[in-house]
Amino acid sequence: MENEKYSKELNVAVRVVHMACSLCQKVQNQFLSTNSDQVKSKDDDSLVTVADWSVQAIVSWMLSEVFGGQNISIVAEEDIQTLTKSESSSLLGMVVNAVNECLAEASRFGLQAPGKALSASQILDAISRCNSHGGPSGRHWVLDPVDGTLGFVRGDQYAVALAMIDDGEVIIGVLGCPNYPLKDDGLNKYSQQNLVMLKIPSGEVGCVMYTMKGTGKVWMQPLLPCDKRLEWPNSAVRIRVSSVDDPALATFCEPVERTNSNHSFAAGVANTVGLRKKPLRVYSMVKYAAIARGEAEIYMRFARSGYKEKIWDHAAGVLLVQEAGGVVTDAGGRPLDFSKGIYLEGLDRGIIACCGIKLHEKIIGAVYASWESSNL
Ligand SMILES: [Mg+2]
Repeated sequence: MENEKYSKELNVAVRVVHMACSLCQKVQNQFLSTNSDQVKSKDDDSLVTVADWSVQAIVSWMLSEVFGGQNISIVAEEDIQTLTKSESSSLLGMVVNAVNECLAEASRFGLQAPGKALSASQILDAISRCNSHGGPSGRHWVLDPVDGTLGFVRGDQYAVALAMIDDGEVIIGVLGCPNYPLKDDGLNKYSQQNLVMLKIPSGEVGCVMYTMKGTGKVWMQPLLPCDKRLEWPNSAVRIRVSSVDDPALATFCEPVERTNSNHSFAAGVANTVGLRKKPLRVYSMVKYAAIARGEAEIYMRFARSGYKEKIWDHAAGVLLVQEAGGVVTDAGGRPLDFSKGIYLEGLDRGIIACCGIKLHEKIIGAVYASWESSNL
């Protein structure tokens, strides 16, 4: 990547995400095979698992080791409230094991392992250190340790999302997608039978995508098999958005869950614009990955009124789409603002990501026309 100023940050971020994906795969496999008690509900009824806390711990620990100890600013999804309750002691034990097993393999990813295993309190410190609120100035790392936790517990799509914001602008975006096959047509091929994406077929590997603002280049690497060392950037291939601009040929993605997006409003917009295909419903930021890779052309998301979008659910994915040649704005056509703290403040109705400006303009126009008659 050309921009020397951030090359070390990008390099470390990519390695850390690879490592986090390997942790997630292990936890997901254990989880699906044993059905153990690794999932908890948070106060807002969303789910959190051993993987969410463990990934947050290793990313926080690694970034702090490499970039400046306690002063580093990390904005991330999880806190330690549930994990420190007295009934959670076995859960905390699982997190401690998962974190130390993963960190012990750090050299495989070109990172330095700790001298000895981390204690539970060091791990809790690492998780709770990620309590920054971001903001308009300085550098902030932004992490969603497991984006799409429901997809994760169902053995379906999820992502590890890491971004870095500098003075309010997203500069680095890295997205690990362990169940998104590296091969061409990784999503579309499987979605023909089912609206919801299926888990990765056996024999295929997931991917990590990364980019830096202003380079116009997005790269994709295969996830590492567990007996290999990360060769970087040797195995990376460049990806780009689709060149389709005819709505009749375009594929559009949307969230699986109705609570995250109004499907019927999106269907109305799709109809107005002339989209013919059924929506591809995918968990997590893999939707942005699909646009960046050129496997889908449009991503529409209309959250229920009152819901505030958080920066960690979008920062990495938005930069990937933009640098791969696409366009992302709110539903009013304005750029997303990552400088206002943990929420995308001032977001107009929803988020529209497209492979190009022509489709984007059509969608924005259709939203505008359909809005009056809907009661979102
Ligand atoms: Mg999450």
